[in-house]
Amino acid sequence: MKNTKVCPKCGSHEVVIVSTGVSGPFRDDIAIGILHFAIPVTRRLCCGCGFMELWVDDPENLDKIKNKYDRGQSE
Ligand SMILES: [Zn+2]
Repeated sequence: MKNTKVCPKCGSHEVVIVSTGVSGPFRDDIAIGILHFAIPVTRRLCCGCGFMELWVDDPENLDKIKNKYDRGQSE
């Protein structure tokens, strides 16, 4: 959905990026261990069927997550 702009569930092209409308730490962000430090995620929602995806858009952040979670640490 991020790359194709098409919903994989219903085929709609009405894919939008949505926000929680909350400032500060977001509910869906990924914790990487340091107090209050989290990786932001982007939510893409299909307006055709309601399907939503979460994406970590920054490749640097993917490396940070991999470094943390590959070691089997959960916190
Ligand atoms: Zn859809």
